[in-house]
Amino acid sequence: MRDWLAALESPGRCLALIEQAKGRCACPHCGNARCHRSGHANGLQRYRCIACRHSFNALTGTPLARLRHRDKCLPYFQCLIESRTVRAAAERVAVAKSTSFRWRHRFVAAVRREEPPTLKSIVEADETYVLESQKGSRHLDRPPRKRGGRAACRGISQQHECVLVARDRGATTHAVHAGRGEPDAERLLRYLKPVLARDALLVSDGAAAYPRFAKLAGISHRAINVRAGEYARGAIHVNGVNGWHSRFKTWLRCFCGVASRYLANYAGWQMILDAAVLTIPEHWLRAAVAPLQQERP
Ligand SMILES: [Zn+2]
Repeated sequence: MRDWLAALESPGRCLALIEQAKGRCACPHCGNARCHRSGHANGLQRYRCIACRHSFNALTGTPLARLRHRDKCLPYFQCLIESRTVRAAAERVAVAKSTSFRWRHRFVAAVRREEPPTLKSIVEADETYVLESQKGSRHLDRPPRKRGGRAACRGISQQHECVLVARDRGATTHAVHAGRGEPDAERLLRYLKPVLARDALLVSDGAAAYPRFAKLAGISHRAINVRAGEYARGAIHVNGVNGWHSRFKTWLRCFCGVASRYLANYAGWQMILDAAVLTIPEHWLRAAVAPLQQERP
């Protein structure tokens, strides 16, 4: 384990992995596959495109382009895998706290930017709420709350950020920050419809927006009446999505409150961790530097 960590921290290995993760050399400016090697810069091979004459390296056009201290990105990915705090990650990797914070969001955003999944067969959907937070903002647009604040009124209101989660029985999950307060059918159309297979069966609790949405979207729908104490009717339940919610809420506590404007990243980060597909720093690196599909002709 120690050897493995030491290897991670060797800058040469990190840079070699970046080159490797990028795979074949194609020009990020014009897509041409024919290019010359043209020296090294900052430890990375530079290439020059034969067609458009632009030069580039393995990170050009990826979210990690022009990253300083790029040799530290693998150990930083390990910190993300371990859900370390900004301060703990800064100490572990030896960067400033401000860099640690920037990297957290830049790297998570880089890795979660892929195409959203398609959820198939039985798909559970439900929302969870996080109290709106302007943590880190210089100017509050409301009076400040005391520490560990609460909403000013009971129930779900515009002071609650909505995280909409949909999960199929194959455990493929889509979590999205879907604005504030309870979503209506229009918002479900915007956030939920794009990830549902056409022949999916949507399962929700009794919230009125779901049957309306299902009708508008032409999706089959069943609801269970949680308020009346009904938790499952055979395969019709939302246990999978509620389990995800509870793991998300527990995990969020590591960070002592997160700013609303970063909530999408936290939801994406938890999606990555919970899916347990990217389990080592190299997986994260590959995902972060993989070319964006929609950018390629
Ligand atoms: Zn080119």
